[in-house]
Amino acid sequence: MQYAGLVLLFLLVLGAVRAYFAFRDRHPGFSVNVEKTSPSVGPESGALRVGFARVKINPDISDPGHPIFVAGFGQNRKATSIHDDLWAIACVIQSGSLRWGIVSLDAIGFFEDDAITVRQRLAPEWKLDHTTICSTHNHSTPDLMGLWGPNYLRSGVNPRYLESVRDACVVALGGAVSNLQPAGVAFHEIPTETTNLVTDTRKPIVFDPDIRVMHFVDTNTGATLGTIVGWADHPETPWSENAEITADYCGYLREALEHGVAENGTQFARGLGGVHLYINGAIGGLMTTPPGVTVRDPYLNVGFQRPSHEKARALGRQLASRILPELQQTNTHFETELPMRISARTITMPLANNIFLLAGYLGILDRGYVGWRTLRTEVALVTLGDASIACIPGEIYPEIINGGVEQAPGGDFAVQPVEVPPVRQLMPGRIKFVFGLANDEVGYLIPKSEWDGNPPYIYGAKHAPYGEINSVGPDAAGRVHAALKQLCGEVGRGDEKRPTSRQP
Ligand SMILES: [Zn+2]
Repeated sequence: MQYAGLVLLFLLVLGAVRAYFAFRDRHPGFSVNVEKTSPSVGPESGALRVGFARVKINPDISDPGHPIFVAGFGQNRKATSIHDDLWAIACVIQSGSLRWGIVSLDAIGFFEDDAITVRQRLAPEWKLDHTTICSTHNHSTPDLMGLWGPNYLRSGVNPRYLESVRDACVVALGGAVSNLQPAGVAFHEIPTETTNLVTDTRKPIVFDPDIRVMHFVDTNTGATLGTIVGWADHPETPWSENAEITADYCGYLREALEHGVAENGTQFARGLGGVHLYINGAIGGLMTTPPGVTVRDPYLNVGFQRPSHEKARALGRQLASRILPELQQTNTHFETELPMRISARTITMPLANNIFLLAGYLGILDRGYVGWRTLRTEVALVTLGDASIACIPGEIYPEIINGGVEQAPGGDFAVQPVEVPPVRQLMPGRIKFVFGLANDEVGYLIPKSEWDGNPPYIYGAKHAPYGEINSVGPDAAGRVHAALKQLCGEVGRGDEKRPTSRQP
């Protein structure tokens, strides 16, 4: 008992010391709201320019003294090999003189502190007004968050690797800026069934099933420069036994879009060339392709049920087989001049999760707690022509995006749905993208009226549902929803005259 007391005292002192250092050098929060509509001055103003670049981010797994811990399922999963390459893939979109830099990372998550560090390293002459770094949430990549180390008291982050990923984001963004060129864009929304692709493991059953694509082409030649593809599913197809580093279905999708699909001398599909970003959207609640689901390779016509790289490839090709024909239609109109507007907000959310709190003080989670039980993060709304993009700092439940938040019977809070109306109803434009894990990963964003830690359990379940353990708390989703609602309202009302600033 005395021993336990000493341990507790030690943890408290350690926590206080860490808290001091954690708070001392915190980056200031930021708020940016920049807007340009075309045309303004000069013949180039409002013209669309786009650039892509990518940097490989494979970890060094050769040093047993500094193992790479694979994130996402359990503790102490040491990476055994590199099965296929991980990437930081950047796209810079310029409308007039406004520039937005996007990076898609093959990573489990990338905290806001790291996203801000990247911003602080960007060369001023790149003139990036805002940057959005999205993790695909891949569960076969190195731990960048700390939760999957050798045991519960030690971080799984390899600091050298994390630093190399921050650097890769900077280099990829710089490369994309130097590749900027006149471009045209077409937006696509591809209706997609969930059967044999993705399942929802928690009631209410709501998906964000459709694929959305931004397709950028060279104005002169019509050649594909690249795409940004949005869909919603946990990249964890190889499942928990896999310790080989892989980009999962996201990598296979990108490969099929770029190079097409060929097997044993037979060409099944023609590729587009270019560089492709995959960005995950509303994957909370929980969107996944578990071992029970059989995914068919649409080209080989072979089904894969057991978790494997072949199953991940089949899933990537399922998406590619829907996207390629749509993008290879010859009658598509590409916009070469369109207005862009970026509105971003720093927000705070109450940290109710005691495990996250303790992990923060122990240094297992190294991130921006800006006050007692208060976490800082950010949201953004971008409009680009008749498309809009909601940038969300975690794994949002699809019912908050598409509607269907319920007052779940047995839930911990007897409240009417809080996160309403649905975000997509609030968003402006015709094609509405959701960029999840954007500039942060705060975990699940669960509707408060569906929050359930205590019995009785929701919808008569025997056990507590999964999700709350990986969430900041019952008010996190409400904070994100409120901020997005405000940003959408300002765009709708045309409240443009806010202070503008450059990043960082
Ligand atoms: Zn997740």
